[in-house]
Amino acid sequence: MAEPPLVERHRAVMPSWLALYYDEPLEIVHGHGRRVTDSTGRTYLDFFAGILTNAIGYDVAEISDAVRKQLDSGILHTSTLYLIRAQVELAERIAKLSGIPDAKVFFTNSGTEANETALMLATQYRRSNQVLALRNSYHGRAFATIGVTGNRGWSASSLSPVKVSYVHGGYRYRSPFGHLSDADYIAACTDDLRDVLHTGTSGDVACMIAEPIQGVGGFAVPPDGLFTSFAQVLAEHGILLVSDEVQTGWGRTGEHFWGIQAHDVTPDMMTFAKGLGNGLAIGGVVARGDVMDCLGANSISTFGGNPVATVGAGAVLDYVLDHDLMANAATLGSALLGGLRKIAERHPVVGDVRGKGLMVGVELVEPGTTTPAPAAATAVLEETRRRGLLVGKGGLHNNVIRLAPPMTLTAEELDEALDILAAAIAVADGER
Ligand code: PMP
Repeated sequence: MAEPPLVERHRAVMPSWLALYYDEPLEIVHGHGRRVTDSTGRTYLDFFAGILTNAIGYDVAEISDAVRKQLDSGILHTSTLYLIRAQVELAERIAKLSGIPDAKVFFTNSGTEANETALMLATQYRRSNQVLALRNSYHGRAFATIGVTGNRGWSASSLSPVKVSYVHGGYRYRSPFGHLSDADYIAACTDDLRDVLHTGTSGDVACMIAEPIQGVGGFAVPPDGLFTSFAQVLAEHGILLVSDEVQTGWGRTGEHFWGIQAHDVTPDMMTFAKGLGNGLAIGGVVARGDVMDCLGANSISTFGGNPVATVGAGAVLDYVLDHDLMANAATLGSALLGGLRKIAERHPVVGDVRGKGLMVGVELVEPGTTTPAPAAATAVLEETRRRGLLVGKGGLHNNVIRLAPPMTLTAEELDEALDILAAAIAVADGER
């Protein structure tokens, strides 16, 4: 008897809460550069891999060679009980790049684990389990991180070891404050922060955790300076600032190595994951030394910072810096924004185009209104796929198309993607 299709086997044996993209879910079997091939032999330009895993693309020889060499040596050693040279070297590089004084680094296997660690450190350091987070945030799928995730679609459990209070700021397009200048918006959000601190907490809050640009929340970009203002209020209360750089790190925003640097503040901790491994499982926390060292007992990680992941991540970092991919993200990112804004002029289904570097969101609405149009976003997702382009979806209302190609993107590939997006958005506009 023939085996059932892979999607049926997935549904039978994997959790119901692991939703798959597309009416006919995709199985990618090959990748090179910015292109992937699925199990039916169709090839796609991948405009989402940059965020999910492959920050610099598929099948990059320098990275595969470094990882293969480590595998061939027998994977020596995994656990934090022995010295691992690649781990120490990567920690030194990240500590230096962070700009955090006396920084120390702890490696994990994922972004969730990195944020769990940051929250554990902050609550321990401050002896408080009260935490501030932004509305419309996403920080992970474990016990504390689900608690600070301010998006109902992803807050699968309401139970959490942290007491969280949410503040406005991340998602400007649907701000209850209306259309304000940057300065007035920042002032309104800062007033809200003060109000939340005063009315929603006992004052001795451990930390604020925030994404400089909200990723799952639909690539929502706050005005530069928002976190400068927030940081002043936090400092008045001794509250730590944790910047979740899981999506915004490694130069993806085009202007700074870390997203938070657009705000001219030095956070107390930053968390990272995803793109650093270019497909390998690695994440981590970089923190002020006194915060990192605040635990009073031993801890351990078996796989966090293992030699294969740290050698691979070191090679990714070399590649990003040696090829100045941040500059490429800046140039092609503004071309992508410009191209999409032109498309938006012709299609009222596009309510907002926003982004920084190669992290660009297109929010779809009922024409002439700001009412979210999730069906239009689904139509764009399916139509781009039909035409050979993979994109992401997200946002509080599931109505935002997310574009995050690998940072090695070329100008020709960008033009190809813009043509497909124009056609797909036109279809979504007509179909409605
Ligand atoms: N933080 C942010 C900002 C993220 O986007 C994600 C993943 N979408 C995470 C944390 C969690 O990372 P992981 O899936 O590796 O646990």
